[in-house]
Amino acid sequence: MRISVIGCGYLGAVHAAAMAELGHDVVGVDVDEAKIALLAAGKPPFFEPGLPEILASSVASGRLRFTTDISAAAQADVHFVAVGTPQSADSYAADLRFVDAAFRSLAEHIKPGDLVVGKSTVPVGTAARLAEELAVAAPGVTLVWNPEFLREGFAVQDTVAPDRLVYGVPEGEAGERAARILDHIYASALAAGTPVIVSDYATSELVKVAANAFLATKISFINAMAEIAEVTGADVTKLADAIGHDKRIGRRFLNAGVGFGGGCLPKDIRAFTARARELGKGESIAFLDEIDKINLRRRSRVVELVTQELGGELAGKRVAMLGLAFKPHSDDVRDSPALEVALRLVEAGADVVATDPQAIESARLRAPMLTYKRSVEQTLRGADVVVLLTEWPEFVGLDPEQVGELVAEKRIIDGRNSLDQARWRSAGWRYTGLGR
Ligand code: NAD
Repeated sequence: MRISVIGCGYLGAVHAAAMAELGHDVVGVDVDEAKIALLAAGKPPFFEPGLPEILASSVASGRLRFTTDISAAAQADVHFVAVGTPQSADSYAADLRFVDAAFRSLAEHIKPGDLVVGKSTVPVGTAARLAEELAVAAPGVTLVWNPEFLREGFAVQDTVAPDRLVYGVPEGEAGERAARILDHIYASALAAGTPVIVSDYATSELVKVAANAFLATKISFINAMAEIAEVTGADVTKLADAIGHDKRIGRRFLNAGVGFGGGCLPKDIRAFTARARELGKGESIAFLDEIDKINLRRRSRVVELVTQELGGELAGKRVAMLGLAFKPHSDDVRDSPALEVALRLVEAGADVVATDPQAIESARLRAPMLTYKRSVEQTLRGADVVVLLTEWPEFVGLDPEQVGELVAEKRIIDGRNSLDQARWRSAGWRYTGLGR
């Protein structure tokens, strides 16, 4: 198929490269010139395992091109829209300016029979509105909503072999034809048994936010249990292991810690509550406000623990921060708990030295006031307390005996409950987990 991908960020760049890798002819379009220059040279503008390889090979083969010129979409028949939908500056609602601008400019270059495929996460009702607008601006074009569920860090694998595919289509022949075209595009995933759910627009939009709301709820649920564990002397990790053996509950996403962040979960649950209120159904998902509050309280809890460990005074104390990305295997620091904690400690007067295997550059753009070190050794040297906030394997695998020689004080706060506490304690460290 001849495909265009509008918006080449964490989602769009991976989607474009993966589609080319599957044999389609793809052009990626973005308004960000620096990003396009890198992508056109076959270089990813962010860290994502597996992306450099498929990007380089597809660009070299000529199956994948990148441009800032939206008129290039005219050469394609199927157009994926993957632009950002961040939180609005002045409310919880999603900011749809980028989606609206992308649709407006795309509409000028597409032809009857083309398919536009929305991948961005949007408030329910957006696809129906955009379909009406397209019917005027680009008659004969069909809109499908095909939400994306990829996980950063596993984005290539999740795009090529997703857990499921959801097609939100219009009624009738146009919808049936659209589903057939998507089946053709995703033929290899379908051949491998990926289930497809075909629905109306509203269901497809809701599937995405409902999935994220559920995952956020699971994380905040166990973090709420951590809060109770902290005042009762219980161990939330053992609690999670015990309840996780119940197959109806499951152990995944039950890791208590500093909570969720990133470019999706926080803004998606907020946009969902804002949309539900607009629909007069705010009470139906009012619990998501509480999920958000529990999540944010965990960041405050880490700041509190660091302050306690340092005897109530942060000024002049050296804090070694292991991790900046919102999760391992990513360089994404959007709404990262680690970065927020680091900034709050700096504000309180601490001398914070931070490291991350991939996220130093993206963190530096947002937080130039932090001190960054490339090596774990330099980060830990002379630290009064160590705080682990992103569970990269290279941090989890540290030898407490060895690194004990570097720090001024053997104190560690494990913000992800990912270290073997017995091992750290027996190496002479004061170990503090969350909810343990
Ligand atoms: P991102 O900020 O990394 O990328 C968005 C890109 O869109 C940017 O490169 C930006 O320059 C570009 N853009 C903005 N306006 C444009 C326009 N008019 N024309 C062309 N390009 C334009 O964001 P992202 O993380 O890739 O997320 C994109 C969407 O996908 C969001 O709705 C997000 O919620 C959703 N999503 C993201 C993920 C993820 O893991 N990142 C997973 C599932 C869904």
